[in-house]
Amino acid sequence: MPISTLLKTNNTAWSTEQSAEMYGIGNWGADYFSVSDAGEVIVHPHGNGTGVSLRKIVDGLIDRGLDMPVLLRFSDILDSRIKKLHESFGRAIEEFDYQGHYRGVYPIKVNQQQQVLEEIAEFGAHYHHGFEAGSKAELIAAISFLHDREAYLVCNGYKDAEFVDLGLLARKMGLRCVFVVESLSELELILERSRELDVLPIIGVRLKLSTQASGHWNHSGGERSVFGLNPSQVCDLVDRLKEAGMLNCLQLLHYHVGSQIPNIRDIREAVVEACRVYVGLVNEGAPMGVLDLGGGLAVDYDGSHADTATSRNYGLDEYCTALIENMVSTLDEAKVPHPNIITESGRATVAYYSVLLFNILDQSRFEIHELPKTLDDNAHELLQNLLDVVNVLEAKNAQECYHDAFYYRDEIHQRFKHGSMTLRERALAGEIFWHIVTRIAALIKEMEFVPEELQKLPAMLADIYYGNFSLFQSLPDVWAIDQLFPIMPIHRLKEQPTREVVLADITCDCDGKIDRFVGQYTTRDTLPLHDLTDEEYYLGVFLVGAYQETLGDLHNLLGDTNVATVEVDKKGRLRYTRELEGDSVADVLSYVEYDTKLMIRRIRKLAEEAVRTEAITARDRRHIMETFESGMRGYTYFER
Ligand SMILES: *Cc1c(COP(=O)(O)O)cnc(C)c1O
Repeated sequence: MPISTLLKTNNTAWSTEQSAEMYGIGNWGADYFSVSDAGEVIVHPHGNGTGVSLRKIVDGLIDRGLDMPVLLRFSDILDSRIKKLHESFGRAIEEFDYQGHYRGVYPIKVNQQQQVLEEIAEFGAHYHHGFEAGSKAELIAAISFLHDREAYLVCNGYKDAEFVDLGLLARKMGLRCVFVVESLSELELILERSRELDVLPIIGVRLKLSTQASGHWNHSGGERSVFGLNPSQVCDLVDRLKEAGMLNCLQLLHYHVGSQIPNIRDIREAVVEACRVYVGLVNEGAPMGVLDLGGGLAVDYDGSHADTATSRNYGLDEYCTALIENMVSTLDEAKVPHPNIITESGRATVAYYSVLLFNILDQSRFEIHELPKTLDDNAHELLQNLLDVVNVLEAKNAQECYHDAFYYRDEIHQRFKHGSMTLRERALAGEIFWHIVTRIAALIKEMEFVPEELQKLPAMLADIYYGNFSLFQSLPDVWAIDQLFPIMPIHRLKEQPTREVVLADITCDCDGKIDRFVGQYTTRDTLPLHDLTDEEYYLGVFLVGAYQETLGDLHNLLGDTNVATVEVDKKGRLRYTRELEGDSVADVLSYVEYDTKLMIRRIRKLAEEAVRTEAITARDRRHIMETFESGMRGYTYFER
């Protein structure tokens, strides 16, 4: 019996709506992704409205000679995210009659690609959207792309004299560059360098909150956080600034509880605590004027709207309202004027921006063969016992049969090891065993209650589909922290998927697999996919715009993928605006310090020796060298 019976097929009754539900696209797609009547995933880069089929985009890329895997970026989605963020804050500010401005800043570390910075500077210009830099390199990148004197440029992270000088010079050129002090020793450096360069710094202070959020990144906040100053250190900072006669430079209070905060309650607690400290600083005589609430606005990766690490129990509007409402009530109570608000949303700004597309190269599946009805008279008794299990198996005794099957199989393995059963008997036992397990997996679909030990069967029996990508390069968080990203086929959604699948990448590292997926409302151990046909089969991994691109590594020397950017105008017309070729084999070899010219010389020497010993001809040598040289220039991924 083929395993495909694991999923009951009934193609005539299948609809694209069922596909949409199965993959949960309506839950995590946030207006940007949907399924068309033609059974293809549609991207709506402006949110709702006109859209374009991802399958059509792929065809256009292939026609242009861009191979899979490809990271697809949608500039319009980035534009839309920035717009939504500012509009949401704008509404909350109006609703609560908040007196300050909202100014977003983009934390560069979340996706540092030049294209991302350029686009954010462009799309955010209207709102004076700024940047947050955590290192010298990020600061230089920010200064080169952000020339808006109204926008904030927030400097976090450890700063040496050079970092401080860069920021002070930006200040001299009129940029609103703020140093967020992470330690008291850093303050001394800032004071000293500003005297030296004769420019007044804008100083902020990073607060260590006692509020700690749940989720993956909760260690960024809380009293044991490694970053920021506790209240007593904040007071020391004020004293030191007073002593230096520079308290007027203290204008900003910053905190960052952590990324991907799943629970709105933690967001409220943090802002209230920070407002109290802000009031304290105003009462100390600091001019203040800006409250920077850090990042943490979460993305609903699994679409469950739940208070879990891969989701969140609030939306953007609720986030803005919660912040503004709590700020107004805390500050008004203390009669302190409303400051400008900065948030450093990274993930929520760029996650939707990119989709990783790859093709499936191959599948491996359990093939269960027909079993003999009866065995030879002289067959081993244990084999007969195992076959008897097949004959009595039904839903109501499935668990018992499951135990029996394991028992007899293990006994047979023991006998085989001791030499008392033959290879053929051992092989037949395997066939019968998998037949039983497969049938149990099919039966549990009909059972009202499925015992826990049986629940893992479908995953155990799942097909493996080999995808043309590297988990380590393109989805490092899946490997490192079990991050969930929505994954689904981008076409054939009019057909019912008939296979239950676990994905493997082409590194063939046992860690290079994905076996947790986003389902309709819950996570699942297998992904329903279509059987492979002669047509190429494409999957998309969605919401990969944040944190994935530069954390990736060169596992198996699989390099950067091709990157393509598309724009869709309001009439739905598609433009391919940018192309970045992925790494070649020579590129990745040089990253790990190979001398590729030397390598070619060495291969040539090997070939010439083969010519000398007459193993190959001189013409063969030419062909060999051409192949190696073109291999060096080629893509690191599987090429058809
Ligand atoms: C990483 C980081 C951010 C971004 O957090 P998101 O959750 O991605 O919005 C913001 N601020 C600081 C200080 C950070 O370290």
